[in-house]
Amino acid sequence: MSICRFQAAVSCQQTGDSSLSLERDDAHEDSEISPPFWLLCELTYRCPLHCPFCYNPVDFARSQPELSTEQWKRVLSEARTLGAVQVGFSGGEPMLRDDLEELVAHAHRLGYYTNLITSGVGFTESRAQQLKDAGLDHIQLSFQDSTRELNDFLSHARTFELKQRVAALIKAHGWPMVMNCTLHRYNLPHIDKIIEMALALGAEYLELANTQYYGWAWVNRLHLLPTREQLEAAEQVVAQYRERVGSRCRLLFVVPDYYAERPKACMNGWGKVFLAIAPDGTALPCHAAASLPGLVFPNVRTHSIRQIWYESPAFNHFRGFAWMQEPCRSCAEKTRDYGGCRCQAFLLTGDAAATDPACVKSPHHNRILATVQMAALSPADCSSLRFRSDATSVVMTGE
Ligand code: SF4
Ligand code: SF4
Repeated sequence: MSICRFQAAVSCQQTGDSSLSLERDDAHEDSEISPPFWLLCELTYRCPLHCPFCYNPVDFARSQPELSTEQWKRVLSEARTLGAVQVGFSGGEPMLRDDLEELVAHAHRLGYYTNLITSGVGFTESRAQQLKDAGLDHIQLSFQDSTRELNDFLSHARTFELKQRVAALIKAHGWPMVMNCTLHRYNLPHIDKIIEMALALGAEYLELANTQYYGWAWVNRLHLLPTREQLEAAEQVVAQYRERVGSRCRLLFVVPDYYAERPKACMNGWGKVFLAIAPDGTALPCHAAASLPGLVFPNVRTHSIRQIWYESPAFNHFRGFAWMQEPCRSCAEKTRDYGGCRCQAFLLTGDAAATDPACVKSPHHNRILATVQMAALSPADCSSLRFRSDATSVVMTGE
């Protein structure tokens, strides 16, 4: 499924099903820090699939035990009191948690707009009914491709037919459906077929999520990055379909950072609207942030959500503009993009406070260009991909 779950949250609103006139506790004394808007509960890192672009941390095998049901309920309650109005349940595969329905019901009672982000594994008729009864508002279902061969190859599991059945279940139970397909050099040439599949399955929203290069995708970047020609051709196809299908199915296609001239406002700004909780209770301003060195991220086992959001040094570290280096510090665009992504800056420069090299003004932009050039020279035969698995995580963590 997509790393870009914050986009999924936005898409949920765009489908028009969210009633977000919910009360927020805006009375915090520090008016410069807004309350969190979006809570992402990564319930588990367990997943029966093995995507080589998985956004989970490469060292997930080192993760501590998952939070209990009662601990997750406390997180939901505290974040709602603070002001969060949307919650996403993701993973790994959140359907692997037996208490998912109980957590959804708790979130629903608190007044959240509830989203499930799933690969479809474990989504049966009986659990669909239980989730409906629990008040689940929205589902994002991921596919790897429009063909069985590539879908099943990339997930390293036979899931293509299963996902089709799950899509039908979602529609039969009356949920709006966001379909998600992570894009890379292997499935970009199928973009028309992917859109046709989404239309045939009745998706109201299709997130064509170009791979973001963190986690396992970073490991596989030279074998996943598409060419500029592939991207431009795909963009044209998407534009044609947009005209043809109109509002029947909204198509989201965002150009990946490696081919853009400016970075995106990652997570809408560090610690501004997005709060992720990892399976072991670690609180993060972005689900990839745990990879940043020198920051100690607080845990919900020992800190309240209010302490974490307003007081923790890690959440305050990249707030505001004082931390910025040049050229961001004196750039007029800093209030729009906040200097880009801290994780991308660290991965490409070794310095999390550097200007995101996706920006052409960055003194390190040549590292993006060099990566694109190296990727173009890498064979597109899939044989060099490293698939996510417990065993590979253990090996790579020890490397
Ligand atoms: S392996 Fe695939 S389905 Fe499982 S969490 Fe990672 S991206 Fe999602
Ligand atoms: S220099 Fe920094 S603030 Fe200016 S556009 Fe680039 S990333 Fe954004």
